[in-house]
Amino acid sequence: MTQVRTRFAPSPTGRLHVGNLRVAVFNHLFTRRHGGEFILRVEDTDVERNVEGSLEGIMEDLRWAGLDWDEGPGIEGGDRGPYRQSERGALYLEAARRLEEQGRVYRCFCPDEGPERERDGAAQLGCPGGCRWLSDEERTRRLKAGEPAVLRFATPDEPVSFRDEVRGVIAMSAKDLGDFVILRADGRPTYNFAVVVDDVGMEITHVIRGAGHLSNTPKQVLLFDALGVERPVFAHLPTVLGPDRKKLSKRRGAPGVADFRRQGIPADAVVNYLSLLGWSPGDDREILSRDELVAAMDLGRIGASNTIFDPEKLHWVSSQHIAGLSLRALAEAVIPYLDRSRFPLDDEEVAPALDAIRTRIGAFGEVNEHLELLFPPKERFEAGQAELASDPGAPGVLEAVRAALTAVESWEAETLAGAVRSAGKEAGARGKSLFHPVRLALTGDRQGPELGKVLAGLGRDRVLRRLDRSLEALAGGVEEGGHSTGVSQDPSGS
Ligand code: GLU
Repeated sequence: MTQVRTRFAPSPTGRLHVGNLRVAVFNHLFTRRHGGEFILRVEDTDVERNVEGSLEGIMEDLRWAGLDWDEGPGIEGGDRGPYRQSERGALYLEAARRLEEQGRVYRCFCPDEGPERERDGAAQLGCPGGCRWLSDEERTRRLKAGEPAVLRFATPDEPVSFRDEVRGVIAMSAKDLGDFVILRADGRPTYNFAVVVDDVGMEITHVIRGAGHLSNTPKQVLLFDALGVERPVFAHLPTVLGPDRKKLSKRRGAPGVADFRRQGIPADAVVNYLSLLGWSPGDDREILSRDELVAAMDLGRIGASNTIFDPEKLHWVSSQHIAGLSLRALAEAVIPYLDRSRFPLDDEEVAPALDAIRTRIGAFGEVNEHLELLFPPKERFEAGQAELASDPGAPGVLEAVRAALTAVESWEAETLAGAVRSAGKEAGARGKSLFHPVRLALTGDRQGPELGKVLAGLGRDRVLRRLDRSLEALAGGVEEGGHSTGVSQDPSGS
């Protein structure tokens, strides 16, 4: 195969959302699989729709997702630029001139009927005013008189067909296409023309894009043929629907990179999940690393039917990726999300605390919710203390556990769990009568993550302090014959 060259061609009208990010993902994985070049091209000719700053946002979104590009904005060099359509005006005019010389296009003086009519096609060859059949003299006369004219492609009167890697051969009658405009009266190219001139100039070998573009492709293949350039391979990805089975769109609130970042879904999980929207690796794997995705990506396994974006499935994929992270990597990823006002942890205390709760974390942003298992809000802690006060065995158990833990040298989950068990033997308590008081004293709850990991996660000082507080409260409570005291100062923070 010649060097694979693909492109992602967003319009700078906003940030990336599930739909267009998925297109970038497929292009990127496919290109990396073949050691090719991935190009970022900016389709910014529709000046009114351009949104200030959105190209920078799109580039940031792509970088976050790890979808690096080889040519385009932000990359030095690249000899097939410029990579912004707004800077390619001369190239469009030059290509139009070549087509005009070859008699493949003609000037049309029909009044501008607006983009809707244009998109529908003229439903017959020629234009409404028959400009295709004007004599040369007549055409020259009108041009000289300064009549505004668009440039239309003279669609040959024969069926147009092309091969789509996903759907096979697609054919359309020339009449359905009509003679479409390639240059507007002011000289600006239409979408289909600009895309083809760019794809030719940038030597794009594979056009991978959403099925929404299928209706444009017949016009584009006619232009490739007319320019005498080999057509690229086309693969149109199935449409992504929302959970409500309606087409996802930015306007209808499709989630985007900003949402994934806020939730703390790892970029690898997002890329993995999006790759499964319309594709599968051909076996039953659903969790794939970047390298595995690159190795497996194949246009032949893209499906044609609509696919549904399922946020719950994305969350599951995210949790699987998080489960595969080392504790250190997880801690690093989670620190920016940590609410330090609620959880006064030093950086080195984060990893052990996370070890207790990591199996529950589906996205980095959930860390705060789960850390409450170790650092409960005051009310829950106090409720736990009250419950403790009604357990006559509690003081004995807590004394024995405290003594055993004080003697532990290496403060690690397994050793700590062992120490609690042997303390239980000493105090004649096991099962619930051992674990409930310990958990209530430490976390305010009878249940929770593995006890050894809770102890390791809290650290020696906090554990001993919390046990002391409970013991004091129990002692005080007994004396006063009523409610425990001495636990009302922010226990979770200590
Ligand atoms: N700018 C087009 C879009 O955002 C992409 C054009 C193409 O892939 O051919 O949908």
